[in-house]
Amino acid sequence: MSKLIYRFNNKELKNNINSKDILGGKGANLALMAKLKLPVPPGFTISTKVCEYFYKNNKKISNKVIQQTKEEIKIIEKITKKKFGDLYNPLLISVRSGSRVSMPGMMDTILNLGLNDKTVIALRKITSNGRFAKDSYRRFIQMYGNVVLGIESHFFEELIENYKLTKGVIQDTELEEDDWDGLIQNFKDLIKEKAKKNFPQDVYEQLWGAIHAVLLSWNSKRAKTYRKINYIPDHWGTAVNVQAMVFGNMGNDCATGVAFTRNPSTGKKEIFGEYLINAQGEDVVAGTRTPENLLKMNKSMPKIFKELNFFFSKLEKKYKDMQDIEFTVENNKLWMLQTRSGKRTAKAAIKIAVDMVKEKLISIKEAILRIDPNILDTLLHPTLDEKAEKEVIASGLPASPGAASGKVTFSAEEAEKLKEQLQDAILVRIETSPEDINGMHAAKGILTARGGMTSHAAVVARGMGKPCVSGSSEIKIDYEKKEFKSGEYIIKEGQIITIDGGSGKIMLGKVPTVKPDISGDFSKVMVWADQIRKLKVRTNSETPADTKIARDFGAEGIGLCRTEHMFFNEKRIVSVRQMILSKTLEDRRLALKKILPYQKNDFFEIFKIMSGLPVTVRLLDPPLHEFLPKTDKDIADVAKELNMSNSDIKSRIVELHEQNPMLGHRGCRLGISFPEIYKMQCTAIFEALVECKRKNIKSVIPEIMIPLVSTTSEIQILKNLVDKTATEIQKKHSLKIKYYVGTMIELPRAAIRAKDIAKYADFFSFGTNDLTQTTFGISRDDSGKFLNDYVDNKIFNKDPFISIDERGVGELIRIATERGRLEKKALKLGICGEHGGDPASIEFCENAKLNYVSCSPYRVPIARLAAAQAYLKKKN
Ligand code: PEP
Ligand code: MG
Repeated sequence: MSKLIYRFNNKELKNNINSKDILGGKGANLALMAKLKLPVPPGFTISTKVCEYFYKNNKKISNKVIQQTKEEIKIIEKITKKKFGDLYNPLLISVRSGSRVSMPGMMDTILNLGLNDKTVIALRKITSNGRFAKDSYRRFIQMYGNVVLGIESHFFEELIENYKLTKGVIQDTELEEDDWDGLIQNFKDLIKEKAKKNFPQDVYEQLWGAIHAVLLSWNSKRAKTYRKINYIPDHWGTAVNVQAMVFGNMGNDCATGVAFTRNPSTGKKEIFGEYLINAQGEDVVAGTRTPENLLKMNKSMPKIFKELNFFFSKLEKKYKDMQDIEFTVENNKLWMLQTRSGKRTAKAAIKIAVDMVKEKLISIKEAILRIDPNILDTLLHPTLDEKAEKEVIASGLPASPGAASGKVTFSAEEAEKLKEQLQDAILVRIETSPEDINGMHAAKGILTARGGMTSHAAVVARGMGKPCVSGSSEIKIDYEKKEFKSGEYIIKEGQIITIDGGSGKIMLGKVPTVKPDISGDFSKVMVWADQIRKLKVRTNSETPADTKIARDFGAEGIGLCRTEHMFFNEKRIVSVRQMILSKTLEDRRLALKKILPYQKNDFFEIFKIMSGLPVTVRLLDPPLHEFLPKTDKDIADVAKELNMSNSDIKSRIVELHEQNPMLGHRGCRLGISFPEIYKMQCTAIFEALVECKRKNIKSVIPEIMIPLVSTTSEIQILKNLVDKTATEIQKKHSLKIKYYVGTMIELPRAAIRAKDIAKYADFFSFGTNDLTQTTFGISRDDSGKFLNDYVDNKIFNKDPFISIDERGVGELIRIATERGRLEKKALKLGICGEHGGDPASIEFCENAKLNYVSCSPYRVPIARLAAAQAYLKKKN
């Protein structure tokens, strides 16, 4: 087995930035700080390999690990001149988790380990602070009882609350040493009662228990959920960091704080942080005391503040990234406890990347690779309309930007339920805890009554890109009554509110929003991305409004215009139903005649907006039953139009019923059965082009796309139909029209027979929604019910309908690409399934040598950035 334990200033791992796999993020960063000679309390990291071994061996810590840990404790003892369990000068340690990527609050930590009935007396003596010593001891017992022995924390909290009630005090700080003595005994009794064993006095027994619990916490429910949401592999495991404790709560020359080297909300280059004098780290993030702005430290502890600033810039220069730092001041000595790349909003990510290029800290390529394309989503969505009327009912801290409206809900479970019902929820909590993670994910926005800018809610919401208002002390939440009060307002569960995470305002009802601003740094990043990428980015769009948005977002054409979506319009649907239900060709032609002008006008509008760019129009695809009338009124309307009886219509509907519509009469099969439908659509496309020419509008070259092709004959027959229609229109108007004909590759047979099909196609567009469905034989409509089980059982890493299955579906794409280009070198290749907007799938498309990706309008900028990243990664 490889090396198991690494001292922070080890010589073995040279490049600590890349040693996260072994040391975990926290361990690697502590090691790097130690090597930079920053003041890091001494300690060591038990590697992630140990976690792997632990789970493979009945959750046992090996003797080798025990032996090496004991040796490392001796080294800490030597450096600190303290001894673990000593009666005079005891060493206290912390035991913390730390995986490769940060999973804030998802795993366990134990502080003050090494305290027992005897060492606490020694601590009291050394610090001449009985209150501090006993408070530390009770915190340790409480943490140990909860994390190692599994006793829920509220039992301990209740003991404290009851005690304070009897004594008639409100704050914990009002409790004296004697009070804590009493509570320590109560805590120990509680442990005896609940865990059926005594709180361990042996410090090594404490240590093994803590390491065991931290390793176990890798598989806690909340950690597993977090991993699933963030696609973190289960096999990574956690490292365990053991480190000498330093105390920020030994008096007024002590403090503890958290800081970001730049503002994580706006990206501005300024120190941004919070601190508390005479407090432990957990006090800052728990939201129990409201922390001070770190800038105030310049007055209260100027020397420390200067030192901190120096370390901040040293760390930023080394990591070339904004850092999120934890520190403690013990008797006027600064200790650096943690550094890591800080979570930031999308806006901040962009500003920081652009600023760091200006500061020559990173290159343009590094800046492009630095920004997670998915987070752009939060920037592309609307923010509150400044002009809209707003009834502000309260305000809090602007913890994570963006606006969200939804129904007030007070529990994570309720938020999840609302999401299942496709309803928007605002999760309102006094403060959030890691157990709320699923609900936070399900909610549109998060509102808390307690907690600062670095509270759990704020950090997690920023990471998720969700709007969050935290620490709104004006609101008084009553979970029992399912309501909150703010002044005279009483807001009940289910009522709609709007929160603005940019200003911290909470408003009644749904407030209208406006389009996002994508100029400035955002557009700079987009220009850089465009200069780098090779893949073109088109959009899937079928309405003029969406087409406009997409073009503004930089779409370089339309990759998929689903014409059936143009049929759903309320006014047109009767004619469409008439077309489907008509029994004779004559009746059908009559209905198509009514639809033609609508189609032509839609195409005209879209061609105008996409002027000069390619537009792929897909001929009708969906199963006909999607258009059938369902209500009696709808049936009566069509019956009247068609001069048929209601019962005739009903029996026609029964005739058209399909057991398996997704594999039924859809796509080009409709064109084969009812060529007049496709003919009408082609006529509309060509007539729209003629109209453009007539009005001197620079038009587009349409790419007419035949869906769901699996055989050469299908495309041959239908291409013929398109060409014939084009000839007719050209003759009619004595005009020459340029157009292309191609096909979707969305069935495995089409991929395999790509060489023959390419004879009749100018382009292929991979319909990866259907290709995934048909490759796996998994219905895209029904898979939601069981896909989670597949992800849980690790059969799928990710939902294959979201991120491309490279080994199966991807292989078919590669086959079709190769075979298609063998027949026709200039064959244009793109993708238009949902995967076209997924960064991982875009990387696949770049590697598979496609020409373009096509995605929904709001994902266009995401795809532009992802395409640039894909190219850079390929080159590296
Ligand atoms: C596809 O199948 O990937 C596709 C784009 O077509 P649709 O989703 O309309 O079936
Ligand atoms: Mg399809």
